[in-house]
Amino acid sequence: MRTSTTAIIGAGTIGIASALWLQRAGQKVVVIDPNEPGTGASHGNAGCFNGSSVVPMSMPGMWTSVPRWLLDPLGPLSIRMAYMPSLFPWLWRFLRAGRRAEVRRQAVALRALLGPTLPYLKQLSTAAGADDLIREQGHLYVYRSKQSLDGDRFGWQLRSDTGVALDWMNQGQLREFDPALSPYYTHGVLIRENGHTVDPGGLVRRLAEHFVRQGGAIHRGKANGFRLDGGRLQAVETDNGVVQAGSAVVAAGAHSNALLKTLGDWVPLETERGYHVMIAEPESQPHVPTCDASGKFVATPMRQGLRLAGTVELAGLEMAPNWKRAKALVELGRQMLPGLPDEVVEERLVLWMGHRPSLPDSLPVIDRASRCPDIVYAFGHGHVGMTAAPMTGHLVADLILGREPKIDVAPFRRARF
Ligand SMILES: Cc1cc2nc3c(=O)[nH]c(=O)nc-3n(C[C@H](O)[C@H](O)[C@H](O)COP(=O)(O)OP(=O)(O)OC[C@H]3O[C@@H](n4cnc5c(N)ncnc54)[C@H](O)[C@@H]3O)c2cc1C
Repeated sequence: MRTSTTAIIGAGTIGIASALWLQRAGQKVVVIDPNEPGTGASHGNAGCFNGSSVVPMSMPGMWTSVPRWLLDPLGPLSIRMAYMPSLFPWLWRFLRAGRRAEVRRQAVALRALLGPTLPYLKQLSTAAGADDLIREQGHLYVYRSKQSLDGDRFGWQLRSDTGVALDWMNQGQLREFDPALSPYYTHGVLIRENGHTVDPGGLVRRLAEHFVRQGGAIHRGKANGFRLDGGRLQAVETDNGVVQAGSAVVAAGAHSNALLKTLGDWVPLETERGYHVMIAEPESQPHVPTCDASGKFVATPMRQGLRLAGTVELAGLEMAPNWKRAKALVELGRQMLPGLPDEVVEERLVLWMGHRPSLPDSLPVIDRASRCPDIVYAFGHGHVGMTAAPMTGHLVADLILGREPKIDVAPFRRARF
């Protein structure tokens, strides 16, 4: 007989948020992962809950900046040439996604997914006793020249058009708001509605612990495929036994396509690898998460120190990290925060690389499998997965339980590719 249990594959922020919403609705849930919760991409991100992140990665005219970024060793983008042939089809879709009308459509979909993040997150974090890891102090973007700000005007227009309130700052106001920042910043934009966590991996783990305390199960194993009977799910197969389940969620981040293939589905999922460097006991740090808009990195004050995170490296899932990219963030951080010393001893640095799960149009897939209505896909959140998790998890629960989804899920359909 089929069990009513839901198996969630992946204990990242998306899987754990889905598990919690389902559990709150009375569903029996087991989370499957070979690793500890919150140790994938959800561990090392910049921790920002930016409901304002409606600007997709592929923007009109962006390709003109690519050669400059690639030539700059501290630049925000790097592509491993050996990976280029595999990457080309994704890059082509990525460029096509950056047409003006497409971008406007993506921004509206992102706003619906990300806008309600903090109230949704707080429902989960309060129940889990994890509110001490969350701050609601806003997010600051800083620019070194008016020309550089003007280059981002379309992005700011998109934010404003989708209902994000923007506080514009001049050089003097920036100095007053945060004296730790370099005086060379001439323009800034503060978005007060945003928040952040001071420990992204710790937050996911705290939520997972609550899930277990409430009766949820965690199965240590790597999911390999599904047992179907008459098109209905019977169980999930793992390298550590079979998990009986009447419904399942694929929330395996950048690794999700391997599971889709076993169901005859495929989407153009790529990994945008990102890096961070943590500086323990930093001499200087910003008041609120601060993004250098041209360097495309974020400095976030965290529990364990200052986290400098960002950059995009296109090199797939297997190639070894290039730690020079993480170390380059120290120099960028020094340019933002002149109070940091010229040399930071290695012992104070922690370097990390993680895999953003990215689809070319900067939107996730939140949809049912084509061959089995019991299996829901929830992955591909790219640069905004921490922010998107609370609403994504709610939508997953809506789909599994047959409820009307809170927002329109049509933009997140698998079949758009
Ligand atoms: C440098 C950097 C900075 C970022 N900053 C931000 C930010 O400030 N704000 C924001 O919103 N987002 C940010 N992101 C993006 C965010 O981190 C990701 O979108 C998000 O963590 C993705 O979550 P996930 O649960 O889909 O994937 P993951 O956290 O990677 O979790 C996937 C899980 O699935 C498991 N898994 C994989 N395959 C299997 C299998 N076959 N069976 C079982 N389990 C499996 C893995 O072990 C892993 O635990 C950033 C990302 C990076 C890299």
